[in-house]
Amino acid sequence: MRFRYHQPIPNFYNIENPIEPLTTISNDFLDEFTEIAIASMFAGLSYSKLNDEFKKEWGIDWDNIIILKYHMSSDILKMEPSKEKCKLMDEEFQEYGAKAFALADILRENGFRADLINPLDDRVSLRAVAMQSNEAIITRSNMCMFKEGLNLGFFMIKTSIENLPFKTVNELEWVGDYCSTCGVCIDRCPEKAFDENGKFLRKLCTAHREGCSKCIDYCPFYKRGYDKVKKRYGRMKK
Ligand code: SF4
Ligand code: SF4
Repeated sequence: MRFRYHQPIPNFYNIENPIEPLTTISNDFLDEFTEIAIASMFAGLSYSKLNDEFKKEWGIDWDNIIILKYHMSSDILKMEPSKEKCKLMDEEFQEYGAKAFALADILRENGFRADLINPLDDRVSLRAVAMQSNEAIITRSNMCMFKEGLNLGFFMIKTSIENLPFKTVNELEWVGDYCSTCGVCIDRCPEKAFDENGKFLRKLCTAHREGCSKCIDYCPFYKRGYDKVKKRYGRMKK
């Protein structure tokens, strides 16, 4: 299981999928949908187009994905790993999950097929789907980071919409090089979840078992934000 402390989210759909779903969304409606998502406290949207190779690898037959990103609460992340912390993280997850269902309903109401991908279903890696957006990168500490922040959770909607603004180039690829010069997460990890070459050791990391998030707290991307770290990286490379 990826989210050991998360409980399944109840089914909150109020609207059925359309029988003949639309495949094209207007810019105006996509803007409106984005505004509603932001008003629901999501940090932003990304889009993944899953190619045939990816679909074959994961045994899926869907391809157009809307990623709804939310900021995990800093107050919760700063807590020491505990049952209480895991409970609060799950409550936050449930709250955003309910909002994600409501957003899927808005798409259904407007003629599009929209289904939430079950975030607890291990058959497909949501991180792998996130990487297909070309707006995410896996940091050295194994976090799936978007520009909006390191402390992001996300829900995903698979949809009939074919003309979402999919990105084809990943602007975050420099992050791997930056991580190779940093290593703060290695020094701060209480579980020593990195090998002698600084490679992350999933089995030792307690993030998804006990809610550890120490490496987020100390990471420059969290402390300073993506743009500032990028500027610093630019100066380093001069
Ligand atoms: S602490 Fe440093 S090495 Fe670790 S993920 Fe953040 S930037 Fe990368
Ligand atoms: S154990 Fe904690 S500090 Fe170490 S990698 Fe996992 S989440 Fe980060």
